[in-house]
Amino acid sequence: MQVWKFGGTSVGKPERMQSIRNLVTEDKGQKIVVLSALSGTTNSLIEIGEAVKSKNGKAAEIISSLRAHYDKFIAELYSTPEGLAKGKVIVEKEFSFIESLSQVADFGLKQDKELVAQGEILSTQMFAAFLEECGDSVVLIPALDYMRIDADGEPEFALIEKLLAVKLGTCADKQIIVTQGFICRNPAGEVDNLKRGGSDYTASLIGGAVVAEEIQIWTDIDGMHNNDPRIVKRTFPVRELSFEEAAELAYFGAKILHPSTITPAKMKGVPVRLKNTMEPSAPGTLITANNTIEADIKAIAAKDNITAIYVHSTRMLNAYGFLRRVFEIFEKYKTPVDMITTSEVSVAVTIDNSDNLDKITAELSQFADLEEHDRNQSIICIVGDFKADKSGIAIKILEAMKEIPIRMISYGASEHNVSLLVDSKDKNASLNALNEGLFNFE
Ligand code: ADP
Ligand code: ASP
Ligand code: MG
Repeated sequence: MQVWKFGGTSVGKPERMQSIRNLVTEDKGQKIVVLSALSGTTNSLIEIGEAVKSKNGKAAEIISSLRAHYDKFIAELYSTPEGLAKGKVIVEKEFSFIESLSQVADFGLKQDKELVAQGEILSTQMFAAFLEECGDSVVLIPALDYMRIDADGEPEFALIEKLLAVKLGTCADKQIIVTQGFICRNPAGEVDNLKRGGSDYTASLIGGAVVAEEIQIWTDIDGMHNNDPRIVKRTFPVRELSFEEAAELAYFGAKILHPSTITPAKMKGVPVRLKNTMEPSAPGTLITANNTIEADIKAIAAKDNITAIYVHSTRMLNAYGFLRRVFEIFEKYKTPVDMITTSEVSVAVTIDNSDNLDKITAELSQFADLEEHDRNQSIICIVGDFKADKSGIAIKILEAMKEIPIRMISYGASEHNVSLLVDSKDKNASLNALNEGLFNFE
């Protein structure tokens, strides 16, 4: 069994949907196909929710232009009157629901989450109906029947495994099992989601749960590039990555993968392959437990919206227990710390969730002196092979960064990650400077 996930651009046009049908049916093995919403849809649904909440009167207009997009899409997707009739029923039903949601008087978080879920609910039904029209062996299993998160928004893996096995037991004779990425239910049984870009995570959770042969993430680029192609001109695909390297890159901002994607795959030892829908024969990137390509520096990613907090011990030298007290506060407010640097009397940490920043700093101030924290920082994460016996890598990084102020450096905690903290206004310059300084371009 394989799990193949197609992102928004891969299903975003009728001809793309038709070509992914060719891809999934040409390969004869049984597979679970996870789909995102058509590109742009999730953003439109979020906009609708915002319009309803702000009562700015724009919701109806956004709904009607989104609807027009779907009417046109299905007219091009299906080639038979029966297929088109099915498509029309799907669009009519889901848009009636979207309209009814937009009219709920006390529209709140629950309705908002039901609204954003409609993107994947539409795309998967449309795709399954298209495969049926083509006479393929297909079944649609609703993610809302098996994908579960706990009160902290974390997947309940054991429960997902159990519920999914029950669902799959009923479709053993089907070649293609279609399901929604991104969406799930929370402990209250309400519709929820795995956060933006979450369809990758869905694919990996499913791949881990069924211990798939492989998880394939199909997108609009030929694999993980060595740097962010939206910011840096000369980037190239990295052919192989270890789970650890890919996890670091995803967590630290490589948009091609949702930050948590690698966790379930790594836990169950399932390889992840990144493939390009626009160029299916390109090799893409293979992510496994081993790592065979020797390279000092493999790739760079950047994560924005980071806040740096600077804490000084008031008891000064030899104060043991100080770090424990500091970290207990972050734990209390369920706020993950990304980077840490320390000196004898000070510690600097970075966080990307600043929801509880005021409470955290108030509690830290009870036993420590705080310097003014820095918002709008970016972590630049350099991934590669930084074994302690290698020399010259740190100097290469610093040499590349010589014109750019660095706020923090984290080196040595891991053999495959060096992180730098810079002001976000210097992010693009940092990524470009490191690209030129760390990779050989002939
Ligand atoms: P999908 O809709 O298929 O999930 P995404 O837009 O979420 O696709 O992710 C693919 C995009 O990620 C690429 O088009 C590219 O612009 C961006 N990206 C950012 N960093 C990287 C990287 N290091 N390697 C490849 N793509 C990257
Ligand atoms: N449709 C969702 C989003 O746009 C999930 C995904 O595409 O992975 O964030
Ligand atoms: Mg994505």
